[in-house]
Amino acid sequence: MDHFDEEGKLKIPDKPTIVNELEKRGLECDKNLHVKQVYCPNGHEMIMPDNAKFDGMPGIKLFLKGENKEEIVYISPFLNKRHRTGGDDFGHGDKLEVRCPVCDVKMPVIGPCDCQWNGEYVMLSLDKDPTNRNAVCFCDIWGCPKGDVRLAGEVVAEYIRDYRL
Ligand SMILES: [Zn+2]
Ligand SMILES: [Zn+2]
Repeated sequence: MDHFDEEGKLKIPDKPTIVNELEKRGLECDKNLHVKQVYCPNGHEMIMPDNAKFDGMPGIKLFLKGENKEEIVYISPFLNKRHRTGGDDFGHGDKLEVRCPVCDVKMPVIGPCDCQWNGEYVMLSLDKDPTNRNAVCFCDIWGCPKGDVRLAGEVVAEYIRDYRL
């Protein structure tokens, strides 16, 4: 199925169905795209109540490993807002390993990013079973803003200036 029109923008064939599918998986799709829970491939929850907060809501906790540095970083659970805390020592364009802060497993790569740094999209699963490929995905390059949301591996929303459903 072709998800893109001539302009290259994302075309959603059946938006209410997609919103319904995402909401079943704990995403709130009103003004913001708010993710309430994501899992590492071993089923660890990465949004916990004591995580750093963004607009009052707990963020996504990640263990990021660069070439010489490693750090816990929190990213906003509001996917259309690209806020984060930590990672000040990482440099623009650094390739990072995105790991679970509990068990240290690497997040699976789901595909390439087309950015200038040849980044790769890693996935944070919306289900405890990562083989469903329902996921929030983003580029593993520090400073690359690209990201998307996938259902069964298919892109249903992506970051352009905003996540568009
Ligand atoms: Zn884990
Ligand atoms: Zn990228």
